[in-house]
Amino acid sequence: MKCSKCGKEAIYHQKYSGLYLCKECFIKDVERKVRKVLGRNIIRNNMKIGVGLSGGKDSVVMTYILNKFFKPIPNSEIIVFFVDEGIKGFRKVARKFVVEFCEEYGIKYKIIPLEEEIGVSLDDIVKIAREKNLTLNPCSFCGVMRRKLLNRVALKEGCNYLAIGHNLDDMAQAVMMNYIDGAIEKLVRLGKDVEHPLLVKRIRPLKYVPEEEVQLYADLVGLKYQKEPCPYSSISYRAEISEIIDKLEDSHPGTMHSIVSGFEKLIKHLGIKMEVKTCKICGEPASGDICKVCLWMEKLGLKA
Ligand SMILES: [Zn+2]
Ligand SMILES: [Zn+2]
Repeated sequence: MKCSKCGKEAIYHQKYSGLYLCKECFIKDVERKVRKVLGRNIIRNNMKIGVGLSGGKDSVVMTYILNKFFKPIPNSEIIVFFVDEGIKGFRKVARKFVVEFCEEYGIKYKIIPLEEEIGVSLDDIVKIAREKNLTLNPCSFCGVMRRKLLNRVALKEGCNYLAIGHNLDDMAQAVMMNYIDGAIEKLVRLGKDVEHPLLVKRIRPLKYVPEEEVQLYADLVGLKYQKEPCPYSSISYRAEISEIIDKLEDSHPGTMHSIVSGFEKLIKHLGIKMEVKTCKICGEPASGDICKVCLWMEKLGLKA
């Protein structure tokens, strides 16, 4: 097949648009989607973007594209934050990918070891929870912890935005899971940014790029990233949702885009104002009187 845009040999069939794309046009298409999410209000001078880089394909592709956009802009920069949760074996490999990637592309980076920030690693936390017979899902704990630390460091570094590597599949899955749970507050948080002086605004540059295309982009550009999944990952429910959405996408191409754009339309009509409090223990933003991390630290008998 020939590329629908330039006539060269196509390498990819984009079912939801009907287009066949060659390598160059495919790369341009992915970058155009990212540019569209950011817009001129973000891609401009005097911007400092904090980037959460885990070492997986999504955040590597996101960082690569953001670097490409921001490098030529005067007085603007991106800075990578890598949270080292302390997961034996797994994070060391990720750390190597992140350091090598940043050095190759001349990107500033900061490593944030969980152990230095809160005194214990994720491995320790899981062990303590087991000893105390507490049901702790390492993934959700890690999620809130990472969110907190990334916000903390982005705030300290004076970042205007914090970029997170969620792709279209992640977004569609999160929307559906929250719909099913009726988790209105989570939906609002996913779609609207709460304004607060202690919260750095989050952006999701890859939110309109399907996972399949993130993968292909990484391979075509020759980006290296960590392939093995986290040993703690327990994504059974999310995996089921993902399977259903993939099936729908297959028989009705465009479903994922439609889930996310429908959600974005809907969210505008939700008149819920999210209240941001500050945690009584750590003083950082929280949805309740005590933030989730401090709540857990108390339960585990640890000091935040
Ligand atoms: Zn082409
Ligand atoms: Zn707290």
